[in-house]
Amino acid sequence: MKMFDEYHDGFSDKEININMPENLVKLKEIVLNCSLCNLAKTKTNTVFGEGNPNAEIMFIGEAPGREEDLQGRPFVGRSGEMLTKMIENVLFLKRDEVYISNIVKCRPPQNRDPQIEEIESCKGYLLKQIEIIKPKIIVTLGRIAFQSLLNDTTPITKARGKIYNFKGIKVIPTFHPSYLLRNPSKKKEALRDLQFIKEFL
Ligand code: URA
Repeated sequence: MKMFDEYHDGFSDKEININMPENLVKLKEIVLNCSLCNLAKTKTNTVFGEGNPNAEIMFIGEAPGREEDLQGRPFVGRSGEMLTKMIENVLFLKRDEVYISNIVKCRPPQNRDPQIEEIESCKGYLLKQIEIIKPKIIVTLGRIAFQSLLNDTTPITKARGKIYNFKGIKVIPTFHPSYLLRNPSKKKEALRDLQFIKEFL
C-alpha cells in the first residue's frame, strides 16, 4: 500500500496489513476495535484523540493516563488541565480548535512508558490521523512523543527550542505538561516554546 511505502520507518508487518480509511470517524471505529498489542487487554477505554479535524495545530502526547482511560478522552486529568491552560492562556486558542492525540491510544498499566512494540503497533493510526488532519504544526509533548514520531533519540532538553520537519509539517517539541507540574521552574522554557509556536499560526 502506498501509504505504508511512504511511511516505512520501522513498521511491523501487523501495521502494514491494516487497511486504513481516509476519514477520522471510520479510523476511530478501527482503533476502538484494535487488538494489535497487549494494552487492548488491560485498558478500560481506547483514547483515539479529539478536537478540530481541520486543526492547524495538533498536540501529541505519550499515552492515556488513568483519567483518560476512564473517560476515553485525551488529556482530561491534571496534565490535561495544564495543557488546556497552555492552549487557552498562552496560544489564545480554544481547546476544541486544536486536535489532541497520543502516540499510543490505550493506557499502559500503572502509567509505565509505552514499549517499542506498543508504539510500533499504534504508530500507523497516528500517522493516518496526521495525514487526514494535515496540521500546519505538530507540538510533541515530552520525550516519548518527540522521539517516537521523529525516530530521533535526541533528549527533549536538547530538542526543544528547535523546529523539526515531519513530512512537510513543522514539529515543535516541548515539555510534557505532567513534567511541568512536577518541575514548575521549567514553565518559563515551555512558555518560550509556545511563543515560538504562535509565530507560525
Ligand atoms: N498524558 C499523556 O501523554 N496523554 C494523555 O492523554 C494524558 C496524559
